[in-house]
Amino acid sequence: MRIGVDIGGTNIVTGLVKDGKILDRVSFKAQEARRDNSIVEKIIENIKELCKKNSITPEQVESIGIGVPGAVNYIEGTVIECVNLGMKDVPLRSELRKELGDVTVLVENDANAATVCEHLYGTMKGTRNSMLVTIGTGVGGGFILNGELFSGKSGRVAEIGHITVGEGFYECGCGQRGCLETFASATAIVKYAKKLIKDGESSLLEQRIAKGIIETKDVFDCAKEGDKVCLSAIQRFVKYLSIGIANFINVLDLELVAIGGGVCNGHELFFDDLVKEINKRTLFKASGNCKVCIAELKNDAGIIGAAMIN
Ligand SMILES: [Zn+2]
Repeated sequence: MRIGVDIGGTNIVTGLVKDGKILDRVSFKAQEARRDNSIVEKIIENIKELCKKNSITPEQVESIGIGVPGAVNYIEGTVIECVNLGMKDVPLRSELRKELGDVTVLVENDANAATVCEHLYGTMKGTRNSMLVTIGTGVGGGFILNGELFSGKSGRVAEIGHITVGEGFYECGCGQRGCLETFASATAIVKYAKKLIKDGESSLLEQRIAKGIIETKDVFDCAKEGDKVCLSAIQRFVKYLSIGIANFINVLDLELVAIGGGVCNGHELFFDDLVKEINKRTLFKASGNCKVCIAELKNDAGIIGAAMIN
C-alpha cells in the first residue's frame, strides 16, 4: 500500500493507493490552508487520519509520494517554488518525517506524477520512450526515457511549455517570448482569438466576450459554426504544438506521444490535423511514425501517479 498526495490549486487530496486504485481518501481546501500557512501541517494531519481510518501506521506504508504543481527538487525532497500556493523552499520530506517517523517520502512535480500514472495504467503503458504533454492554462508534461521517468540533474520537471517555437505576440509568464505555451495552451488560443478581433476581424466570439470571460470552449463552439477567427486560432495552436512535439520526437526518437489536459475536450477540432502536422515534421519515418494519441489521464491520475513515484 502506498499514499499519494495531490496538491491541487483547489483541493489537496491524500489517497491510500493499492494496485492502481484509490482505497480511501481525505482532503482539505488549499486556499484556506494557504491563508493560515498550514498546508504542510494539514497534509501531515490527513496522512495520520487516513492511516488511522484504515488501521495502519504511516511506517507500514511503502512510500508517500507528493505531487506538487511547481518546481521541486526530487533528490532533496523539497518544494523549490509553488507560486499558486505561496510555497517556497519547503523541506517537505524532512517535515513529514519529523512527524510521521521513518517513512519514505518522495516529492515530485505533478506533471511527472501524471506521466507515471499514464505510463503504468494509461496509453503510455509498455512504452520505453514516450512523452506526455498536458495542455491547459499552460503546457506541461513529462518523459519516459529508457523505460523510466526522466528527471534532470536537480530532479526538476521537463519544462515543455517553455521551449521556444516561434515569435510570440505576448510575453510568457516566465519572462521570455516565443515559449510553446504562448502558442499552444488554452490561454494562448483565447488570447490569439481576442487579438484577431482587436485587429479588426469580426467573429461570433464578440457576443460571448460582451457577456463576460471567454474560455477555449467558446472558441471551439464558434469554430464548429465555421467562425474564421476561431478556426485561425485553432490552426495556429496546431501549427506550433506540432512544431514543439516534432522537435522532441526528432531529438528523442519517441515511440508515442500522449496529449492530455483540458484542451483535449475539443480534440475532434484539432487532433487529426495535429497528427498530420507532426508527421510532416518528423524524421525517423523509415521506422514508422511516432504514435500520437489522447491521454487517458483519469481524474485521479494526480493521486495515483504521486503514490507510484519511485
Ligand atoms: Zn515561458
